[in-house]
Amino acid sequence: MQCPVCNRMVEEIYAPTFAGRVVRCNHCREFAASREALRSLAKASPVVREHALKQARMLAARCRTRPVIEAVFEPANERELAEA
Ligand SMILES: [Zn+2]
Repeated sequence: MQCPVCNRMVEEIYAPTFAGRVVRCNHCREFAASREALRSLAKASPVVREHALKQARMLAARCRTRPVIEAVFEPANERELAEA
């Protein structure tokens, strides 16, 4: 399958208990995205996708878990994107 963030080919990780997909991407590394997030990512611009992954990574670093994209929000403005 294709990476929901960068569109490169990814390896999908078997995760039957997760309502979404878990992928390993050479570019984005390993992360999960909920079913709802996958729908939003498909419609979002590359910048917004990267932003969503970055936020998921920051949270995961705090919790020491795999990043999970639960939802995708359009950033309020350019500054918010730059600071992420
Ligand atoms: Zn990727």
